[in-house]
Amino acid sequence: MFVNNIIDKNGRKLEYLRISVTDKCNFRCGYCMPQEIFNHNYTFLSKKNLLSYEEIIRFSKILKNIGLKKIRLTGGEPLLRKNIERLIYSLKEKNQINNIALTTNGSLLDNKMAKNLKSNGLDSITISLDSLNDFTLNKINTLKNSKLKILNAIDIAIKLFGFVKVNMVVMKGINDLEIISMIDSLNDPRIQLRFIEFMDVGETNNWNIDSVITTNDIKEIITQKYTIEKMINSKNSTSKKYKILETNQEIAFISSISDPFCGSCNRGRLSADGKFFTCLFSNHGYNFLDLLRNTDDDNKILSDFIKIWSNRTDKYSESRSEMDNHKKRNKIEMSYIGG
Ligand code: SAM
Ligand code: SF4
Ligand code: SF4
Repeated sequence: MFVNNIIDKNGRKLEYLRISVTDKCNFRCGYCMPQEIFNHNYTFLSKKNLLSYEEIIRFSKILKNIGLKKIRLTGGEPLLRKNIERLIYSLKEKNQINNIALTTNGSLLDNKMAKNLKSNGLDSITISLDSLNDFTLNKINTLKNSKLKILNAIDIAIKLFGFVKVNMVVMKGINDLEIISMIDSLNDPRIQLRFIEFMDVGETNNWNIDSVITTNDIKEIITQKYTIEKMINSKNSTSKKYKILETNQEIAFISSISDPFCGSCNRGRLSADGKFFTCLFSNHGYNFLDLLRNTDDDNKILSDFIKIWSNRTDKYSESRSEMDNHKKRNKIEMSYIGG
């Protein structure tokens, strides 16, 4: 039932699905799950409302019919979900999705687990690390002594996968003075350090345009010490890669605020409870959990999906500067929609 050329209102195909396998996390990064909101009073999704692995596999297989090529497993913290290697195996072997990636905070990734993920078909890992200063890191993610665990996870990922991407969300007054020390400490050609602009995802992280350090700000800091040269970037890539000529390191910039990439946005997001979101900044998701549980007809699910994708008009990041920043839009939280 392959259906060719399904495009949205801006000519974009669905090629990449980010799947949140859980909304829970063992960290409380202030920019994502501030602890004053995500505390013991917060209600996370119940087990019966989570998509099972079988349901995720079925949904992805249906989307393969319109050109899905890549899946990223994320969350919340995806490694909190038990036996995630089984999901990876089926997505790769049964569904023949060629590119399976995972984004993790690294705290639970040990050697055994990493080997298990790789042998079941995981292609790459991205690990988040916002600082190498214990005090700063603890202030950002609240889990005590996380640095050694994350660094260990980076080492393991390098050994097994030969390459690892490391995400650093740069925020004014929090970790912006650590850009050079992060580059120097992660000086390894097998690491791509990615500087991410702090985004206004959700409604709880107190985002403010003044707390954003833009890619240009970061480049200015880096070029006081190093020479950087733009590398060749693939068409739909959200990050722009550069080489540091003096050290041969690869770095990248994700500039959702200062240089949005909605024009080439080929991705959708599936929440852990089966809602499909056409944009990271959506305030509305389409419920596929009920459909997956109530019908055996894959064609019905596909045709519903095609209607949704064909009507997609999202370009939030491109319109952000024209919007009233003080207005609440009930945007979905990052830990739920999947970062
Ligand atoms: N828990 C995993 C982790 O932290 O890597 C996966 C989920 S997390 C939501 C995915 C990525 O989103 C992380 O690299 C995180 O730093 C990033 N992120 C979360 N909130 C963000 C925000 N407000 N602005 C920019 N990046 C954000
Ligand atoms: Fe958890 Fe990742 Fe969000 Fe941090 S960014 S709170 S590690 S989901
Ligand atoms: Fe895609 Fe929405 Fe991000 Fe634009 S703002 S790049 S449409 S997810």
